[in-house]
Amino acid sequence: MANQIKPQPGIMDIALYVGGASHVDGQTNVLKLSSNENPLGPSSAAKDAVARSVHEMHRYPSTDHTPLRQAIGETWAVDPDRVICGVGSDEIIHFLCQCYAGKGDEVIHTEHGFAMYRISALAAGATPVEVKENDRVTDVDAILAACTDKTKLVFIANPNNPTSTMIGEGEMIRLADGIPPQAILVLDGAYAEFVDGYDGGVSIIEARDNVVMTRTFSKIYGLGGLRVGWGYGPKEIIDVLNRIRGPFNLSSAALAAAEASVRDTDYLQKCRIENAKWRDWLSNALAEIGVPCDTSTANFVLARFGSEAEANACDDHLKSEGILIRRVAGYNLPHCLRITVGDESACRRVVHAIAQFKGAR
Ligand SMILES: *Cc1c(COP(=O)(O)O)cnc(C)c1O
Repeated sequence: MANQIKPQPGIMDIALYVGGASHVDGQTNVLKLSSNENPLGPSSAAKDAVARSVHEMHRYPSTDHTPLRQAIGETWAVDPDRVICGVGSDEIIHFLCQCYAGKGDEVIHTEHGFAMYRISALAAGATPVEVKENDRVTDVDAILAACTDKTKLVFIANPNNPTSTMIGEGEMIRLADGIPPQAILVLDGAYAEFVDGYDGGVSIIEARDNVVMTRTFSKIYGLGGLRVGWGYGPKEIIDVLNRIRGPFNLSSAALAAAEASVRDTDYLQKCRIENAKWRDWLSNALAEIGVPCDTSTANFVLARFGSEAEANACDDHLKSEGILIRRVAGYNLPHCLRITVGDESACRRVVHAIAQFKGAR
């Protein structure tokens, strides 16, 4: 008899996640500006910590992540008892959907929002609900209008990827206070550290019981390869998430690197300043050659072209030059290309190649 094995409802609606490309056939000098990685790499303290951790590889890692949660608490002025660490912030997003959304429940994300919200909602059997943005900016009124008595989670990234825009504190508060009582607002702060003076929404969380923040070590901290993220929120919610967290979800090398990184605040500051400097240079240089971008608050810019065909042709040209950037048609932005802010030579190289492309047309 033929088997009757079937995945849970929703699973087959998930399109496989496509990451930023990392190689080009026949190219050796490849410049990767497709995954919002830190061109300066991680703190040297993180590398030293990983080197030391090899001597303990035969030991199981910490299960409660106390040293890392304490370091996060000290650096970001948050209560370590309400921090949860995950395999990237992707895992925190996943925990939130698994714990709070199921069949018949709705999970709101925005038109150009991060792909993992939809994927994790579907994986939990819930229904993702896409809400329009306002010229590539999160639209709080549209989100509030989309809320129903089935809404369980509302995800916004602030700054958002791939738009690079963000909303201010007043708008975040209006959102937190306007969602229905059974819903949690999730503030995804993957790029929070790039915004001078922004703590990802800690004060908004402290004043309420319905807001959670997610953060990552993959972007400004340069540890994407080790997979560490964290979440912060009300004690009740963090306790729930910890129930489904694998006891050894983070390796000892990853924990050691993250702890050393979060304590190296000088390096963080240096990375933030370098990024802002080259981000401004990059957007101005692109504007001069007729490629506008919204004002970016993150470590990438969203370059707008006249059409999808032009954006794709530019991407093809860049690829032929060994430069990888990100097409964002999957984010409802087919006429745009997302370009990570690299170091000085990377920024000059990508602008030179785009100018060549524009000049040749
Ligand atoms: C990169 C990114 C993340 C997280 O990535 P992890 O590597 O899983 O921590 C989360 N949200 C947004 C919006 C991102 O761009």
